[in-house]
Formats: sequence, structure tokens, C-alpha cells
Amino acid sequence: MISKKGIDKVLEGYNQKKLVVCTIGSHSALQIAKGARDEGLSNLLLCNRKNTPFYKSWPVVDVVLTIDSYKDILSEKVQEVLRERNAIIVPHGSFVEYVGAGNILEKLNVPLLGSRVVLEWESDRKKQFQWLKAAGARTPKEFQNPEDIDRLVIVKFPGAKGGADYFLAKDEKDYSTKMIDVNLPDKVKADCMIQEYVVGTRFYPHFFYSPLDDSLQLLGMDIRYESNVDGLSRLPDSFGIEPSYVVTGNIPVVMRESLLPGLMELGRNIVKASKKLFPPGMLGPFCLEMVCTPELEFVCFEVSARIVAGTNVFVNGSPYSALLYDEPMSCGRRISREIKEAAAQDKLKEILY
Ligand code: ADP
Repeated sequence: MISKKGIDKVLEGYNQKKLVVCTIGSHSALQIAKGARDEGLSNLLLCNRKNTPFYKSWPVVDVVLTIDSYKDILSEKVQEVLRERNAIIVPHGSFVEYVGAGNILEKLNVPLLGSRVVLEWESDRKKQFQWLKAAGARTPKEFQNPEDIDRLVIVKFPGAKGGADYFLAKDEKDYSTKMIDVNLPDKVKADCMIQEYVVGTRFYPHFFYSPLDDSLQLLGMDIRYESNVDGLSRLPDSFGIEPSYVVTGNIPVVMRESLLPGLMELGRNIVKASKKLFPPGMLGPFCLEMVCTPELEFVCFEVSARIVAGTNVFVNGSPYSALLYDEPMSCGRRISREIKEAAAQDKLKEILY
């Protein structure tokens, strides 16, 4: 396992005046690169051969390092290059998916923004629910046994696949019939989570927690645009077409202002619970995936403990970041600002592991 002490040692060898913000070319990489550029830091993207020309074509990208496979990031050769360049890794959804939370914890000896322990919590749906519940958040009812299904449920499989293979079921019979058609190994199928399907409006608020001054900011909010469920609402009838939840884009949204105090309290409770469950807890950007019911209650079904792709709609700032800053502040830029401020205060060790 890569220890915190080991990462602190790597940091001691860094030239803190020449820090380089690094991530995989995917997900929110362009926003992260622009954020670094806006804050006067260099950026470096690790890209596979196919995506290299695409990422090289954007003027906000400083350096593209081509690798054959994303798992090569774990090789000593690539890690050495990253350390020599004083790289700080910013994990995003694709980074965690391609490299693996376990591998990041066990093998990636390069400083990473936030705590890498948190990535293990967010990669496991059951741990996520434990965290949400510890924060006092309402979560959808879970059904351990398909026989107990007494309302509309959504059936989810392990791994952040962007909603692929999920299905809806109204009772046990429906569940069993649909499960037969799921093309996944039996072991994965057996590990599914059966959740109450909560009907309401979706919100995916983007938070940023800084341990430097113990502050929590709301930087933006989006709704995931999902295929085909968001297309079905354009039809007068579903015509028996089963909905799927594959993310294809994101849409900006603002929340009714009277709901914001409750939302911020929930965000603070998420941070507080994380500190108790896995110290030092949540650092940097995180997002809650939730539905707001007609009774104006939030029901949270996921927590992402890193930058989310929905922040890409606010490369130039959001209606919330505009209230916090007199300059366009994306989540990617806020990350680089945090790195810069921590370096200036000689507190990089507090935000990196
Ligand atoms: P993934 O982990 O693959 O990102 P999510 O858990 O975010 O998947 O679910 C994918 C989508 O399914 C969500 O964005 C939302 O539209 C819908 N969804 C998930 N859980 C629920 C729920 N309990 N009630 C209503 N809709 C849900």
C-alpha cells in the first residue's frame, strides 16, 4: 500500500514552484487543463494513442504524454516521469474507472489531490450508502431480497458504468424475467443493488471542501442527460420500450433558493461523516446525486468523491460560483487554486495523498 508518509516524502522532493497538474485525457480533462492554465500552473494529460491527436488540438493543453494503455500509469517508468515533472494527479471518474481505486491505493506512488482512501469508498455502492446514512441523508429504500419488492425499483450492478445494464422492475416476477436478459457474469449479477425508484426532480450539486480554511462551497449544479430515458419523455407513450440510463451529456440547473440552506447543511454533514469514517475524510470536489420529492425532501442515491463530468457545463463559471468569485471559477480552476494556495501556505501535505 502507498502510505501517506511515502507520498509526503515524494512531495519533499518536488520543486513546489513548478507543480504540474496531471490527469487522464478523458471525462473533465479539458476543464482541469484550463483551470491549471488560468491559475498559472502547467498541465499534462496522459492519453492513449487514439485520443492523443484530439487532446493535442486544444490550445489549453500544455503537454500530452502518450501511453499504450491507461494501466501503464502504474508502471515505474511512467510514475518516474510524473514525479520528475512534479506532477499532482487530479482523479476524475474515468481515471478511477481505468486505473482502479485499489490500484491507486496500492501502486500509484505519485501525489494525488484529495485522499485516495475516499476513492475506495466511492467505488463501492454499499460503502457509499453507509457514508450517506452516517451523514443523516435520506437514501432510497433497499431490498435485500427480490421477494420483498413492493414498489417500483431500479436494479444496479457494481462499477460506475454510467447506468449501463440498469433496469426497472415493479415486482419479483418482473425482476426475475428482466434479470435473465442481463448480459453480465452471474457473480456480478448476484452483487446487484435493488433500490426504490424515487420519482421527483434530479439535482447533482457540485461541492468543494477545503481543509485549508474548513470551508464548503457550492460551485455549480447539473442534471445528467441520459439515453434513452430522457428521450422517452418526448414520446406520448413508452410503447413498451425499456428505459436505460447511459450518460450522454449534462444540463445546467439551479435549485429553488429556499432549498439551498438545507442542501449546504447536507453537504457539511457529508464532510463531517467522512472525517469520522475515513480520516482525514473528503478533501476537494465532490458531488451528490439526488432526487427532490414533491414534499421537497432530498433523497441521495450516490456520492462521487472527486470532480464530476457535470462540472464541464461551467468551464466559464456557474450561477453559484459567480456569487463566490469575481472571476470565472470552474471546478477545475478551483482545484488548481487550492493547489496554489496550499503551496503558498506550505500546506500541500494537507490536501494531497
Ligand atoms: P452510475 O453509478 O452508473 O453513475 P447511478 O447510480 O448514478 O449510476 O444511476 C444512473 C441514473 O439512474 C441516475 O442518474 C438517475 O437518472 C437514475 N437513478 C439512479 N438511482 C435512482 C433512484 N433510486 N431513483 C430514481 N432514479 C435513479
